[in-house]
Amino acid sequence: MSGDTIFGKIIRREIPADIVFENEKVLAFRDVNPQAPVHVLVIPKQPVRDLNGADREMMGDLLDGVQKVAELEGLSKEGFRVVTNVGTNAGQTVFHLHLHVLGGRSFRWPPG
Ligand code: 5GP
Repeated sequence: MSGDTIFGKIIRREIPADIVFENEKVLAFRDVNPQAPVHVLVIPKQPVRDLNGADREMMGDLLDGVQKVAELEGLSKEGFRVVTNVGTNAGQTVFHLHLHVLGGRSFRWPPG
């Protein structure tokens, strides 16, 4: 589990967010500092710090959320990137597990 974060406040509607999709298990909302024309964060409602704390059920719920966001945002066919940063080396800044769904432009590989 993780302590409270800005994403916990978004889940509880204590601060606003541009919500794209929600179900019982996950919330998807637009990143406040988008790195692509589409940049949506898909998060579990249960506060887990990062991928190390997730289990298969949670990842399945997040996958459902990613697929739904891709469909809603028209990315399923043209392609998109999914990223999750874990800890210091990856540059994680919010310690509530989140998958970045990025689309609407092409991306380079390897990432920086
Ligand atoms: P990380 O660096 O942890 O992988 O990603 C955290 C992301 O959360 C960043 O892309 C950042 O722009 C986004 N973010 C941080 N605070 C907020 C906020 O209050 N609202 C929204 N919508 N996004 C946020």
